[in-house]
Amino acid sequence: MSAKIISGTEVAAQIREELKKEVDALKEKNGVVPGLVTILVGKNPASVSYVTAKQKSAHELGFYSLQDDQPEDISEEALLALVDKYNKDPKIHGILVQLPLPRHINEKKVLNAIDPDKDVDCFHPVNVGRLMIGGSEAKFLPCTPAGIQELIVRSGYETSGAEVVVVGRSNIVGKPIANIMLQKGKGANSTVTIVHTGTKDLEAHCKRADILIVAAGVPGLVKPEWIKPGACVIDVGVNRVGEKISEKTGKPVPVLKGDVDFDAAKEIAGAITPVPGGVGPMTITMLMKNTVTSAKMHAGLPA
Ligand code: NAP
Repeated sequence: MSAKIISGTEVAAQIREELKKEVDALKEKNGVVPGLVTILVGKNPASVSYVTAKQKSAHELGFYSLQDDQPEDISEEALLALVDKYNKDPKIHGILVQLPLPRHINEKKVLNAIDPDKDVDCFHPVNVGRLMIGGSEAKFLPCTPAGIQELIVRSGYETSGAEVVVVGRSNIVGKPIANIMLQKGKGANSTVTIVHTGTKDLEAHCKRADILIVAAGVPGLVKPEWIKPGACVIDVGVNRVGEKISEKTGKPVPVLKGDVDFDAAKEIAGAITPVPGGVGPMTITMLMKNTVTSAKMHAGLPA
């Protein structure tokens, strides 16, 4: 039987609808308007399009949203001063510095200068620590891993006691999603294994997984026969494998493939995310969710 396709596009739309209601109620009952600033240094086309999408989403939800464009040659000192300005601005609850930054700027120094309570990307070491401690300590969850957890939970998979295998140990996906799934609590409480290039028998680990999360960046790494029948497969990989002409625009667009052989895997898995349209659409939505959480926290409301 063919797997249920977990549509990130649909789940993200559902969460945004919930968020819109929450934002409207916050405004009406508490006079609180979530505020998000996106800081863009230079004009890298990919960064411009990411920041534009984030601002569009914030605008649609009724946030106070600000895009702060800075020249490519801004000094590190001036950028740090800008972050500090927003740290102190009571209208701003979320600060996002779009990466990558130009080479003359120390990225780590800038990210670490963001007030952890406004760090809606959840890259600050304080928030990474809070995530590890878990429970009420974890104010924000990093956006892509948080989106992955939402997809699993909303697709109805039981996470408690489930064998979760995470392929990849990056700081932005593998490590945080493994930490999220092992916490004692709702939507987690799983038995987690992380595998990577040093793992001896990748196939054996994947075959045990009730929930298989793949974030390696290697197209087709996970073979269909590695998937346990009925498992939930979350394919985080986004790999450009070629170009095609878009039917809509007539212009060349990249052909994207995940880390899992989707067509064959969907005949074995119980549920699976497509690429594109799976994890991808969730990331910005979770950024919006973190900003709403931050606004509530700053207003002294339960988050
Ligand atoms: P990354 O920093 O390159 O990390 C990849 C991880 O996968 C590493 O831990 C690496 O192991 C492991 N790995 C690579 N090849 C492997 C192999 N053959 N066997 C076992 N493990 C292997 O990548 P990332 O930033 O986590 O991103 C992973 C993928 O997710 C990429 O395709 C990226 O584009 C995508 N992504 C999507 C979203 C989204 O949709 N919103 C967000 C973030 C990332 P070692 O540590 O041993 O090198």
